[in-house]
Amino acid sequence: MKALVKQEKDRGLVLKEVPVPEIGPRDVLVKVKKTAICGTDTHIYKWDRWAQKNVPVPMVIGHEFMGHVEKVGSDVKGIKVGERVSAEGHLTCGHCRSCREGVRHLCPNTKGIGVHTPGCFAEYLSVPEENIFKLPPHISDEISAILDPFGNAVHTALSCDIPGEDVLITGAGPIGIMSAAIAKFAGARSVVVTDPNPKRLERAKKLGATRCVNIREEKIKDVVEELSIWDGFSVGLEMSGHPDGLNDLLKSARPGAKIALLGILPQTTLIDWDLVIFKMLTIKGIYGREIFSTWHKMSNMVYGGLKVDDVITHRFPYQDFEEAFETMISGDSGKIILEW
Ligand SMILES: [Zn+2]
Repeated sequence: MKALVKQEKDRGLVLKEVPVPEIGPRDVLVKVKKTAICGTDTHIYKWDRWAQKNVPVPMVIGHEFMGHVEKVGSDVKGIKVGERVSAEGHLTCGHCRSCREGVRHLCPNTKGIGVHTPGCFAEYLSVPEENIFKLPPHISDEISAILDPFGNAVHTALSCDIPGEDVLITGAGPIGIMSAAIAKFAGARSVVVTDPNPKRLERAKKLGATRCVNIREEKIKDVVEELSIWDGFSVGLEMSGHPDGLNDLLKSARPGAKIALLGILPQTTLIDWDLVIFKMLTIKGIYGREIFSTWHKMSNMVYGGLKVDDVITHRFPYQDFEEAFETMISGDSGKIILEW
């Protein structure tokens, strides 16, 4: 089969022929139809320090996908050949305390599909049955391919008390703007999104942000007055991974606010702890999705009318992967679909 492989410890990927994955008794073989490029994939493509530390080569990469079941292992009970599926990309150990307590997203032994084990940028992918998510008919193929980052946004936004509150989101990347749509759908009074890139802010507006702030041209303080948010934001979602994003949230938060961090901040990030302590803020780190409650809530919100389709800006056949990755790395795009 054809696959996109991190072949050398260097920038780029190779499109090459590799064997179709063998499946174990509890695995499902999926014929991949649509995939999407994640920030993680661009780190691996660029071969930055994180990738050098975490990804063994050679490796078929990619973890955002949808497709149809081609074959099931002998012990697979709940999934049939032909079913339309996606999957949770975090493989959990099954025997640690978190796994045994039913909170798999807190497993400390998590392995990532397309990072530690062969990924979905290929014609076929093997996934354990327990990670498969059966796709309901109301979710389109394209949205099905981005349920992983969409789930990051749902996990982040729903970890805060959104209804009736003012929400500040720093960073208008794909997950940031999907969070804006979710916060609005969940009943926020206002959703303000900040970013320095006008193209990204335009998309945030399209997905439902009440007000976008180009931090190169405007101050959050002025927008707060314009929207009559007198004592600050009750909810802050950090999606930029930039220290300024976090500091803007802390400064603009109302006393008692809850702040969720999804963007990966540099280790050297400094913050004014007085703001955290004297405003009695709660800061929560977010990673991945709750398995599978986030998936079901996401699916149900789409059924209920939540729309994030405009986060997808480009589609490429897999053969044009280089153009797709360079477009993603430019920072101007939303989600990019690779078709198989
Ligand atoms: Zn575990």
